[in-house]
Amino acid sequence: MKHLINALRPNNTPQIVKARADQVQNNAGGFVFAVTDANRFLRFLILGTEGGTFYATEARQTKLETDFVRNFATLEGATALEIILDVVRYNRAPKVEPTLVALAAVAKLSVDSATRKAAWDALPEVARTGTHLLHFLEFVQMFGGWGRLTRAGVAKVYETMPLEKLALWAVKYKSRDGWTQADALRLSHPKTADATRNALFKYLVDGVLESNNATLNIVRGHMLALEAKSDKEAAAIMREYKLPIEAIPTHARGVKVYRTALANNGLTWTLRNLGNLGKHELLVPGAWEIIEQIVSRVTDAEALRKGRIHPIDALKAMLVYKGGRSIKGDGTWKVVPQIVDALEKAFYTSFGTIQPAGKRFVLGLDISGSMTWGNIAGVHGLTPNLASTAMAMLTLRSEKHSHIMGFSDSFRDIGIRANDSLEAALRKTQNQSFGGTDCALPMLWALENGVQADVFVIYTDNETYFGKVHPFEALRRYRDKMGIAARLVVVGMTATQFSIADPKDAGMMDVVGFDGSAPNIISSFARGEF
Ligand code: CA
Repeated sequence: MKHLINALRPNNTPQIVKARADQVQNNAGGFVFAVTDANRFLRFLILGTEGGTFYATEARQTKLETDFVRNFATLEGATALEIILDVVRYNRAPKVEPTLVALAAVAKLSVDSATRKAAWDALPEVARTGTHLLHFLEFVQMFGGWGRLTRAGVAKVYETMPLEKLALWAVKYKSRDGWTQADALRLSHPKTADATRNALFKYLVDGVLESNNATLNIVRGHMLALEAKSDKEAAAIMREYKLPIEAIPTHARGVKVYRTALANNGLTWTLRNLGNLGKHELLVPGAWEIIEQIVSRVTDAEALRKGRIHPIDALKAMLVYKGGRSIKGDGTWKVVPQIVDALEKAFYTSFGTIQPAGKRFVLGLDISGSMTWGNIAGVHGLTPNLASTAMAMLTLRSEKHSHIMGFSDSFRDIGIRANDSLEAALRKTQNQSFGGTDCALPMLWALENGVQADVFVIYTDNETYFGKVHPFEALRRYRDKMGIAARLVVVGMTATQFSIADPKDAGMMDVVGFDGSAPNIISSFARGEF
């Protein structure tokens, strides 16, 4: 009898069967929804496609998503540009390359000429360093090469950038991807009436400096540094001309240069060079003065904001530094525990202030096998699985009433607690990841156990197929039986088009994993603000 009722009851469609006409089949064979094009685009900008996914190689996944981006930029260029600028202004993406590709696509391909022009106008804001500009030029090449707008757009960058900044570019970012600043200048022909700027253009093209203007002192210092015979000599020049370490030739970069760089270079450099500082035995256990200096620098909320440090930058620094050896395998260092702790603090602090929603949360981490594949934002070893744990920790710590568990083909306590160190929490998920995927489990479990929840947050690649009920149906069932208008936030951890969130249900929402704005978006949505 029961089997007949179960079979006839609506809302009991297995995930490998289409439950609604607007569903699409995911890579695992299950049926889910497609996110909006805008959301898919945002996923690409934030997560990137490096390392591919469990289901697709890097090459295939990248082709799929860049084809999508090309199409979206062509037809919906204005929307694409709006998203690009939001991502840049609010520091939402950990890596700039996907944003640069997307901007190049809009600038070159949009069917609307006003949008193409607007994209060029946005270039100085998106390409914030010389490296970014040179990457951008390589992408422009892919979308049809130089034209009149390209020349004008690139020229404008050189014509309008503050002179001090351009001087810094001249010593820091000479070439990337087979492009040099000299190439960019030769092709774009910027024009200026300012003699000093002209002198700098000339220096960038042929290496000769014909100006005594003090703004270009950094260039003079760099020219001297290129002749430096020793680490000591280079460090003295660095101090005198306030040079960043990039202006020093690699052969002269010894311990004295690194010590000076600690004073001259900023927070971003510090985060990326903790291992180098260790290798040169500047940053070692017991070197309290330097430890203190670095701890206070990397945990300074204001500096993190001003330096545009994305939470992933801090997490990456922590993952690399605590390993005690470079990923490329050229050298080891002694790990200073205080630095690891400071990086953990930097990770949480770099999300900015989060307004807790004060609601009851169930946080469900997809710990199935597919989540252990790929590199979020190209960070070596940062799988969707680890990235979602780090994200979830943030909510777990800020929301008093939150319960965190993991699911694959069952929903289980993976032992994560709010007061776990980030390192400990990451280890707990890493050790328990395997099995099939059923994204309906958090709701079914809460229903079965009478757990009160206003919000379910599910961190997943949306490759669900295993369950007997679709996640959106499980949520409806939970709402009906518990009498709580529970909401669902789906945190997408791979750059695909799939989601378990029902687009027709205003109580379900997609956010992008490791979007710098995600915690505040989740919190506002949980409060019912939209
Ligand atoms: Ca899976």
